[in-house]
Formats: sequence, C-alpha cells, structure tokens
Amino acid sequence: MSSVKENLLQIKSTLPPHVTLIAVSKTKPNELLLEAYNAGQRDFGENYVQELVDKHEQLPKDINWHFIGHLQSNKVKYIAPFVYLIHGVDSFKLLKEIDKEGKKNDRVINCLLQIYIAKEETKFGLDFDEAKAILLGEDIKSLKHVCIKGFMAMASNTDNNEQIKKEFQSLNQFSKQFPELNCLSYGMSSDYKIAMEEGSNMIRIGSSIFGERNYNK
Ligand SMILES: *Cc1c(COP(=O)(O)O)cnc(C)c1O
Repeated sequence: MSSVKENLLQIKSTLPPHVTLIAVSKTKPNELLLEAYNAGQRDFGENYVQELVDKHEQLPKDINWHFIGHLQSNKVKYIAPFVYLIHGVDSFKLLKEIDKEGKKNDRVINCLLQIYIAKEETKFGLDFDEAKAILLGEDIKSLKHVCIKGFMAMASNTDNNEQIKKEFQSLNQFSKQFPELNCLSYGMSSDYKIAMEEGSNMIRIGSSIFGERNYNK
C-alpha cells in the first residue's frame, strides 16, 4: 500500500496551479493528517463539527480548515472562530446564522453556496433559481460578516462519466453569471479529473489520499 505522502504528491503533481487540493480527512486519525501536513498539505476538509473542532485543537495552527459537510444552524458557533471556508451553505437561514456568529467573532466567514446538481434525492443543496434568489435578493446586503466566494456541488454517484460531466458543466455555466464568485468546489476521488475539465478550481479528495474509510459516513 502506498503512503499518504506518496498519494498526495502523486495527485498534486497532476494538478494545474490554479486548482486547490483539499485533503478530506473525515474519520481519519491525526497521525495521517500530520503525514499529509508534513508533506506540505495545508487545506483539510471535514464533515462533522465535533471532529473538526477536536482536530483544530490538536493539530498545527496554520491549517486551513474547510467544513464540507451538512451544517446545522445550531452548530455554526463551534466552528465560527476558526473555520477557513464553509462549503455547504444551502439556505438563507444558515447564511444568516453564519453572519451572526461571524459578527460575534469579529470576522468575515467565507462561504460557498451548495448547489444541487445530482440526479439523486439524498444530496443537499439549492437549485439554480434558489441560489440566484439569495444572491440577487435584498436580504443578503445586510450580512456583513459572511463573504460568498463561489459554489460547491457533488455529482451523482454513478460511473456514467457523461452524466457527471453534464452535471459539472451545468454549474460551471451557471456560475458565469456571477464572475466574482469564482471559487468552484467540485470533484472528489472518483471524478476530480472530469471536474477540473469542467471548470473546478477546488477539489476535495479523501480516499485517494488517505485510503478507503472504514465506515461509510
Ligand atoms: C467524503 C467527501 C469527499 C471526499 O470523498 P472521496 O471519495 O473519499 O474522495 C468530498 N466531498 C464531500 C462533501 C465529502 O463528504
């Protein structure tokens, strides 16, 4: 089996410079995160609030912590002091809560709107019209402690690459209406190459770096 360091460096060697690699470390022990850190990795992604809080406390302070899971409004307060980017914002209510906690912590919290592009019922996210309504609405102007940087999405869990490509393409097209929201977070271990071809500049890779997860969270 190859090491975390080898996996990481191998993937990095294939990425164009404008693409940020987020090492998705959910369920993985600190030792493995440190292996990646020692190989130069600074952006890590976590899905669970408590796990993120613990890892943030225990690991080096110059890590950029990305929250990539489904965030409940009542848990924003735990990550607001330090989170680098919240990927999964899927309602105005959540955005308002993040703004409130950003204010308390005297910081502006960077966010991505999660867009639903998959043909699956189980995934979270806004549809294009909902995202547009939030971005062009009046209410957003009062939020001074959030900054929307772009969009995040997950493609259908399928091996039909044409389908995946179409889904990523649809978001890439949509995002062009908002040129200043140019952070595009899509692509995981199985589909990041397609994602990059379709405009992604932030890929979230877990199992190809750290190995398969033991339990499917
Ligand atoms: C787990 C997860 C990933 C990484 O998935 P891999 O298939 O292990 O690369 C990426 N994005 C999100 C939102 C995830 O939950």
